[in-house]
Amino acid sequence: MSNLPVIGFLGLGHMGLPMAINLHRAGYKLKGFDVVPAAVQAAADAGIETVDSGADAAKDVDIVLTMFPSGQHVLDAYRSYLLDAAAPNTLFLECSTIDVAQAREAAELAVAAGHRSADAPVSGGVVGAEAGTLTFMLGAEAADLAEITAVLEHMGKRIVHCGGHGSGQAAKICNNMLLGVSMIGAAEAFVLGERLGLEHQALYDVISTASGQCWSVTTNCPVPGPVPASPANRDYQPGFAAALMAKDLGLASSALEHTDTDARMGALAAALYRKFSDEGNAGTDFSGIINAVREGTL
Ligand code: NAD
Repeated sequence: MSNLPVIGFLGLGHMGLPMAINLHRAGYKLKGFDVVPAAVQAAADAGIETVDSGADAAKDVDIVLTMFPSGQHVLDAYRSYLLDAAAPNTLFLECSTIDVAQAREAAELAVAAGHRSADAPVSGGVVGAEAGTLTFMLGAEAADLAEITAVLEHMGKRIVHCGGHGSGQAAKICNNMLLGVSMIGAAEAFVLGERLGLEHQALYDVISTASGQCWSVTTNCPVPGPVPASPANRDYQPGFAAALMAKDLGLASSALEHTDTDARMGALAAALYRKFSDEGNAGTDFSGIINAVREGTL
């Protein structure tokens, strides 16, 4: 018999399935469930034990891990059946990217129902989920850290404890707000450089070693050439899709509003990515926004 915790794993989508597969390979007993039958089948095909309902996934387990599209999905499932189905003191490990206020509400509901709770959103995308190299931003009680880390380390290579409930989500949206702003800034700099007669490589060689240096230039460079692995070299296939950037910036906007924060660059990046995504670019890498900057259509 294994001493590893039993995990109810709900949400077997693009991210959840490869994460579940990594836990399965590490020897964990899972109870996998998704509302989409094909997703359940894909998990079963990978050798993961699956169950017939969300409530069944939360019964007789040590940890309930959720990887859902939005905070509303999380709150609905917690309220409707997950919190009731779980045994007292179950650890609710919420890995979706959701609104900070909703993450705190979910944690309060879980604690009020006699459980423990942590938010652990990820960065690293599907590639990171498959490779087990995700970064987890953790909002959790210190007493639960060892138990949580032991599980997360099979799906990720970096786990940062950011504080109490909701802090993981807070750190994720602050980071992604900066990323959205910096990518638009990088795109504008390269387009201006083009119009001033600069070669992409020459401008890259300067920015990458000067004070404008940032991930949006050195890793995800929005023009083809200087960084061979960046999505610009493959017609902006993601990578990190514009729809997901628009979603995360929407969460940042909501947090700006809740906290009465005047962050004009973040708010503008949110509006520009929402427009870019809605105008037929949802599946384009977020660096593809350079084309809209160049065309003047943003
Ligand atoms: P996805 O839509 O592919 O997967 C979500 C899954 O949750 C779906 O299969 C859906 O059927 C399932 N689901 C919804 N409600 C459910 C319920 N009540 N019970 C069981 N299953 C339910 O989305 P994804 O790309 O896997 O992303 C999941 C989360 O991770 C999102 O919050 C997203 O923002 C975040 N995220 C995604 C990426 C990425 O690159 N895809 C990167 C970082 C973070």
